[in-house]
Amino acid sequence: MRDIEMVDLKAQYGKLAPEIDNAIRSVLTSTVFIKGPEVRQFEEDLRKYLGAGQVISCANGTDALQIAMMALGLKPGDEVITTNFTFIATVEVVALLGLKLVLADPDPFTYNISVDAVRKAITPKTKAIVPVHLFGQCADMESLLNLAKENDLFIIEDGAQATGADFIFPDGKKKKAGTIGTIGTTSFFPSKNLGCYGDGGALYTNDEDLARKIRSIANHGMKVKYHHDDIGVNSRLDTLQAAILNIKLKYLDQFNAARRSAADYYDEAFSGCREVIIPERSSFSTHIFHQYTVRIKSGRRDELRKYLADKKIPSMVYYPGPLHTQNAYRYLGYGENDFPVTSELCGEVLSLPMHPDLEQDQLDYIAISVLEFFNKK
Ligand SMILES: *Cc1c(COP(=O)(O)O)cnc(C)c1O
Repeated sequence: MRDIEMVDLKAQYGKLAPEIDNAIRSVLTSTVFIKGPEVRQFEEDLRKYLGAGQVISCANGTDALQIAMMALGLKPGDEVITTNFTFIATVEVVALLGLKLVLADPDPFTYNISVDAVRKAITPKTKAIVPVHLFGQCADMESLLNLAKENDLFIIEDGAQATGADFIFPDGKKKKAGTIGTIGTTSFFPSKNLGCYGDGGALYTNDEDLARKIRSIANHGMKVKYHHDDIGVNSRLDTLQAAILNIKLKYLDQFNAARRSAADYYDEAFSGCREVIIPERSSFSTHIFHQYTVRIKSGRRDELRKYLADKKIPSMVYYPGPLHTQNAYRYLGYGENDFPVTSELCGEVLSLPMHPDLEQDQLDYIAISVLEFFNKK
């Protein structure tokens, strides 16, 4: 059996090496390392894949969120509501821009932001909601769109973990994660479902004016060289990364399907085990399993993690602590127990190895080891 990895980038490179090496060599030969033709090509290919109006690439997913908030003209004091159960990047940029960060609990079964919690957090100062499509599954966009409409709010979808997931509207129509709200953002960090070999990110929008503004902000606020209409940042996708992404995009659906079948296997294996709560799949979204995250009841999560580690099975806790208790965010003034769902999840969640190259013997070994842990008590 191959060594089990949380994310097996070596196995993936092994399969794509000839194509990727060619693409890299061609950029090296051209020496157009910034804004080479591969960048526009990738933006166009991704736009077509997503069915988005416009795709603007940038340097990483954190910048994408920041640029989105800048492009929408959010001002210090404006309130932005997002989930307490996410990667720090989502909230960091809100704080950096001097906006007021308002946190909301997630749903305990899908882990995505609770629409009820968002509704309760809305005030006259609220300007935007940032749903995160966590672990590869869309938040309840239909309900959030309605809430945004009633209250005149922007929606920025943090789609870093959900590139390729579909949101399914009540009438059966599907839209790709990130193409539904005012702006969608994503990350091409190597471990994401669509990852490059370094940092990368992108924004999507169906609004042409907003797209122009985003493109300008991402490139020093210039539409015309050395004419600065906006206060911008330097956030571009490298040509090399775009060339790699052009190859990997072709395989995205295939890789996401492979993740889903690994998740199907885990679901089935754990269905009879009371101590393992499998992730709920929403009726309104496909799931592309950026992570396969279970909840371990009975306070034995860390013990299980150690048991698996001893058997050379890696696992991770995404995320170990609520954001409102991180030192940097104490200033928000939240009480320790203000987010009971987030706190509960942080004590129970465990992410198991998940990537497109998991082999059957590896899956068997992981599932048997988890079940063995509980049967041995
Ligand atoms: C990875 C990630 C980001 C940040 O992306 P980077 O490219 O690492 O800056 C933002 N939000 C979520 C939910 C993420 O998982």
